[in-house]
Amino acid sequence: MKRGKIEAATGRLVRRLNDLGRVTDQPGRLARTFHSAAMRRANTLVGQWMRDAGLKVKVDAVGNLIGRGEGSRPGAKTLLLGSHLDTVLDAGRFDGALGVLLPIVALGELRRRGVQLPFAVEVLGFAEEEGVRFASAYLGSKGYAGRLRAADLGQRDARGLSVGEVLRGASGRFQLPKAAHRGRDLLGYVEVHIEQGPVLESRKLSVGVVSGIAGQTRVRLTFRGRAGHAGTTPMSLRRDALAGAAEFVLAAEACARRDPTLVATVGTLLVSPGASNVIPAEAVLTLDVRHARDATRRKALQQLFSRARRIARERGLTLDWRQTQDDDAVACSRELTALLARSVRAQQHGRCLELTSGAGHDGVVMSAMAAIAMLFVRCRGGLSHHADEYVAPADLEVALRVIVDFLERLATVAVT
Ligand SMILES: [Zn+2]
Repeated sequence: MKRGKIEAATGRLVRRLNDLGRVTDQPGRLARTFHSAAMRRANTLVGQWMRDAGLKVKVDAVGNLIGRGEGSRPGAKTLLLGSHLDTVLDAGRFDGALGVLLPIVALGELRRRGVQLPFAVEVLGFAEEEGVRFASAYLGSKGYAGRLRAADLGQRDARGLSVGEVLRGASGRFQLPKAAHRGRDLLGYVEVHIEQGPVLESRKLSVGVVSGIAGQTRVRLTFRGRAGHAGTTPMSLRRDALAGAAEFVLAAEACARRDPTLVATVGTLLVSPGASNVIPAEAVLTLDVRHARDATRRKALQQLFSRARRIARERGLTLDWRQTQDDDAVACSRELTALLARSVRAQQHGRCLELTSGAGHDGVVMSAMAAIAMLFVRCRGGLSHHADEYVAPADLEVALRVIVDFLERLATVAVT
């Protein structure tokens, strides 16, 4: 693509990322969660950009925003490109949004230049990926891929509303959706995402391809003991749920530290009744364990489960161990990734780095219906899930060039 054109397109992408970054449920910080008012506004805004790129827009039963463009060949297969439009709390403006907005700008550029792709494309803005509102991730892509289950609908948010109630909404009706496509009708799913880690930066590269996504398991643990007076209950007679939880937090940290490729995190802790002069009766915490090898992750979970049971036994507590998410590691498609890597080398002075992703992505769910490939884009300091998340325009330009190049390459090789 000519220099001036791609610079203008990059400028458009930067402006849109900024505009979408202001669509929030919480003044002063970015937060968009599943089916919130800001998510509806985001769908309207991004839907307009999709239309400007020549795509036909709809929102599916789960709330996913879908922009579709037909291929020049009738009955051609479909290439899916996308990411999520929800955010964490106090989020940056690139996580998720980049993977939705960049393909829209790329397709707009091809259209401007009169290029017609032989295959159909769908740009997907998933309604939920982060697991913020319901502590259960991928509700959007699960709905699209036909993998939403009745159990997912029972998850409740902080106000006690369930996923099912939210989806039934005003109409009172909701059916678990079937997959949006048959696998054989798809060319694949390509996701552009910020790296959310420091590797590309350390190698002085704008972009890289992903070989696979680490598996991850999330567990919600509840330790229950007995409340009591903080002044009159001797230490030997206490059943302090928070002290048990604290012991478990340190055990999880120690377990993961024994293996430099394993990570384990306790990210939330809720204590009740929560008064300075009352012994905690209940502590609810979440555990998140990830590894590129499924066997390693499972072994760590087994060890932590045994440890939690022992802590409960020794302290006279009860333990409730509830797995809320369990996703095995996912390998990216070799063919699609090789093609993407060729585009990367063409736009990055012959250099392409392959990375594994420690973060989960919609590609995990989408791999059940399509071959997947991912492009990672360098972010400053590897920082993500933070308001200071930043991608330099020069890196956005390289990523945009890569996706345009990839679409044109795919047009020449795709069996449609
Ligand atoms: Zn993300």
